[in-house]
Amino acid sequence: MRAILYEDQGKVAFGEYPDPHVQEAGDAVVRVSTAAICGSDLHVIEGRLPGVRPGSVLGHEYTGEVVETGSDVRRFKNGDRVVGSFPIVCGACWYCKRDEGTNCEDLRVLGYGMFVGDLDGAQAEYVRVPNADSNLHAIDPVLSDEQAIFAGDIMSTGLYIAEKSKIRPGDTVAVIGAGPVGLFATMFALTYEPSAVYTVDLEASRLKFAEQAGAIPVDASKVNPVVEIQRVTNDRGADVVIECVGFAKTFQMALDAVRAGGTVGVIGVHTDLEVPFPLGEVWRRNITIVMGGSANVQGVWTRALDGVREGRLDPTVIITHTLPLDEGVRGYEMFRNHEALKVILKP
Ligand code: NAD
Ligand code: ZN
Ligand code: ZN
Repeated sequence: MRAILYEDQGKVAFGEYPDPHVQEAGDAVVRVSTAAICGSDLHVIEGRLPGVRPGSVLGHEYTGEVVETGSDVRRFKNGDRVVGSFPIVCGACWYCKRDEGTNCEDLRVLGYGMFVGDLDGAQAEYVRVPNADSNLHAIDPVLSDEQAIFAGDIMSTGLYIAEKSKIRPGDTVAVIGAGPVGLFATMFALTYEPSAVYTVDLEASRLKFAEQAGAIPVDASKVNPVVEIQRVTNDRGADVVIECVGFAKTFQMALDAVRAGGTVGVIGVHTDLEVPFPLGEVWRRNITIVMGGSANVQGVWTRALDGVREGRLDPTVIITHTLPLDEGVRGYEMFRNHEALKVILKP
């Protein structure tokens, strides 16, 4: 099959790869109809995430059609249209039974290397999905692939962290990062009737999307976002700050921008193992830090898809480019350079 492959740090390639087949009784093989490039893929190709096998298939956001199932698959059959989750949960452990896929004892991630299961990804013609009953979701016939694909990752991630950060009506919310995850966090934060959502990024082109969604843009290339958020909150800080970048400095920015007694939700993937932490200050200011971990996609994706079907949000507004799979390398370049906000690949 044709696929986008991780070559080496900083390098992706388009090439041939063996077709996947059912290996375990819970597996399904999906013929991919759309695959997307995610900010988390950048951690892989920029070398922040060790253990990705050179030559393996990248990607974890996809829709497609089931074409092969193992003997234990109950909920899906050949021909079903599905969206897949980026976290591959076991569905059977103590945590999965409590609907806490984030903490699954055998959590794996498609296309994310040997420390999370060494599974091939979905930027390809076919993908093998372990434990398909837990890791696929049927797509309602009224929804297009483009409307459904982000339920498997960034849309559900935005909903998950907005819920977990416990935004209350009237709150002032700050979202740090206006990439796809920050934009979905912004869209869902706005559903809690906050007094305002301030979305922070360094790029005017991305902030435009946040503004169109109903947020107030804060351009961190022009103003100090912490000073700006303090200014608009009578020097208190925001009630809730959601960090959607994944750098130590943006986590610190979130701590600085939140009010005493407020909440910082962290959903950016943090690959720094240790950073300095202002323990006394965080304690004194009584800040609640809500770590997202790997989003509990399975816990929220039905609700996210319901929201799309009922017209409460349109996830397709973030798609700026659709390319054939064989132009995926160019798609990565455009996403990395921020020429593209979200790239869809069509195998
Ligand atoms: P992205 O790279 O497109 O977006 C990151 C945004 O942050 C960019 O728009 C960039 O301009 C902005 N940014 C960078 N430095 C900044 C700074 N100093 N101040 C303000 N803005 C800054 O990625 P994305 O797809 O939106 O993903 C965002 C993060 O969420 C990544 O770390 C990704 O790995 C993570 N993620 C986490 C989960 C999860 O389950 N926890 C799921 C999906 C994605
Ligand atoms: Zn992702
Ligand atoms: Zn589990």
